[in-house]
Amino acid sequence: MLRIFSAAAAIAISFASCQSGKSETVTDSTATATKTTSNTTTEEVVAPAGKPASNAEIIARKQVPILCYHQIRDWRPKDSKTAKDYIVPIASFKEKIKMLADSGYHTILPDQLYAYLTTGAKLPSKPIMLTFDDTDLDQFTIANPELKKYGFKAVYFIMTVSIGRPNYMNKEQIKQLADEGNVIGSHTWDHHNFKKFAGDDWKTQIDKPTKKLEDITGKKITYFAYPFGLWNAQGLPELHSRGFKMAFQLAEKRDPNDPLMTVRRILDSGYWSAKTLSNSIRNSF
Ligand SMILES: [Zn+2]
Repeated sequence: MLRIFSAAAAIAISFASCQSGKSETVTDSTATATKTTSNTTTEEVVAPAGKPASNAEIIARKQVPILCYHQIRDWRPKDSKTAKDYIVPIASFKEKIKMLADSGYHTILPDQLYAYLTTGAKLPSKPIMLTFDDTDLDQFTIANPELKKYGFKAVYFIMTVSIGRPNYMNKEQIKQLADEGNVIGSHTWDHHNFKKFAGDDWKTQIDKPTKKLEDITGKKITYFAYPFGLWNAQGLPELHSRGFKMAFQLAEKRDPNDPLMTVRRILDSGYWSAKTLSNSIRNSF
């Protein structure tokens, strides 16, 4: 299968990008990566070099906790009960990020997760991934500055129809996030349900928005998040054929035949305290 061969090349690239430049959070993974390459008998190397892990091996690896955020703002009287799951009040968000830092978590990015899943590459201690969906402006104005205090990086899954609209990020802000070492991912044009994609939807919802994000960031976009976390197995080959390396859902079971395209995340609910989040991280992954 074509994607097996391209995966090997992609690993080489992601490994290089892992080692090139970055803040303190990556220091120990860099050290380990160097050690691993110079000593191929070390136990961390599960898959032989050049041979990516099988789906069964990927499923068997311990999952890295991944959190999914939407709006970071204080609740308003008009917010519905359901909406509040997706709206984390500012003080609560700050408390949760501080809890993660105080608990020793290190944020990782998708290239590191991909290398870990496909080659067994070592990760920093207590790895976690933070992801933000839907292009909300407060992710740039509130969340990003908070993450920077702790040297944390994140993934921003952009719904391109919203770019530049009131209360959403504009191109310059998205570019800045990418330039600062965060990862920009694709999240469709207008949040159309992936399970219902047909005909031109692949172009409208995947190809064009992804190209737009590549134009904005100047970087290749290789990660995707499903709107509403919804996916179906028959759509996954379409993501592979377009060069995506991993796709992110919510907390459903992964597809055993395609774990890289069904990576799990949990929603950090607006109702949760930092303690609840901490427990959920331990229980869900
Ligand atoms: Zn979304």
